[in-house]
Amino acid sequence: MNDTNKQIIGICVLIVVGMILWFRLDFNAVKADQKHHEMRMVLGTVVNVDVCIETVDEKAIVMAAMSSVWKVFFEIERSMSKYKQTSDVGLINHSDIEPVEVAPMTYELIEKSFKFSELTMGAFDISVMPYVHLWSESQEKGVLPSDQDLRALKDAIGSINFSLLAAKKIKRHNKQSQIDLGAIAKGFAIDKAAGILSGFNFVDFMIDAGGDVYVSGRNCNGKKWRIGVRDPRKKESLLDVLHISDVAVTTSGDYERYFEIDGKRYSHIIDPRTGKSANKVLSATVIAPTAVEADALSTALCVLGSVEGEALIESLGGDYASVMIEKNEKGKPVESASKKYKKYLKK
Ligand code: AMP
Ligand code: MG
Repeated sequence: MNDTNKQIIGICVLIVVGMILWFRLDFNAVKADQKHHEMRMVLGTVVNVDVCIETVDEKAIVMAAMSSVWKVFFEIERSMSKYKQTSDVGLINHSDIEPVEVAPMTYELIEKSFKFSELTMGAFDISVMPYVHLWSESQEKGVLPSDQDLRALKDAIGSINFSLLAAKKIKRHNKQSQIDLGAIAKGFAIDKAAGILSGFNFVDFMIDAGGDVYVSGRNCNGKKWRIGVRDPRKKESLLDVLHISDVAVTTSGDYERYFEIDGKRYSHIIDPRTGKSANKVLSATVIAPTAVEADALSTALCVLGSVEGEALIESLGGDYASVMIEKNEKGKPVESASKKYKKYLKK
């Protein structure tokens, strides 16, 4: 090979290497720009949304979609808060003989919630509110609710105390009865947000409302979304990492919110059938096709415990799965999972 040929080959090699470097740098630059992220404080928690976009042109579309997403989150907060007297929930909880007309979304969620009570054999029940109220009062007084106090509220619990009427009207029959959508509103809002993003033709996104998550498609690197399941026994550690797509994951438990009476912790989740705090389960994580189902089921599993809870999850078939940490007879935490759970641990 003469010197001229060597020079030509050298130049060609430089051009190819240069092109590879340019392509990689440019490719990374595009990749970094692929994730659109937004965050808001709503429904009493931090909500993070990631949407993967392919071109810069999609930026304007994703921003329009996100404005609708936040609108629905704040609308749900406004109409479903139990703390605001003027919310739909506030109006129902203080209504007299006259039925109350509520927003279509409120009506839809209350109707859904009553169906979840049937599905979970009464373990999930939005009419648990009078018991929740009693437990908050007991915490303030520093005295556990007595059996007599609990018995006095028994008739006020149950969907039988409410009628869902035409024209989105809801009638309360018992003045002691009240509803609390706190165990399901987040999941419902996540699904509504997912519906909006899908409606704008986005496929790959994640909506995370304080750890309750829905993931669609793939993450912005083309892999399944990775979601950590928190270990209620060790703060900041993970029990597992799930590799998931097109499902929701929610966790309920007593590790963050609880009543404290006389130095002892009691779960904020109440068994609607007895009025007692559901203290056996430390945490219940549910994977389900929608966030509203996962949210209702994870709360219900804290009441049902692992034997009944896992039987319920298995009976639903499909993509439903659960993992729970429960105290055994000696008070030691024990982990158990439904049969399908393992498949979500695979990459
Ligand atoms: P979550 O964190 O989704 O499990 O929701 C717990 C909240 O739901 C509690 O703070 C109560 O406001 C309410 N709640 C408590 N027990 C129940 C129950 N058995 N069914 C429905 N809602 C409940
Ligand atoms: Mg819940």
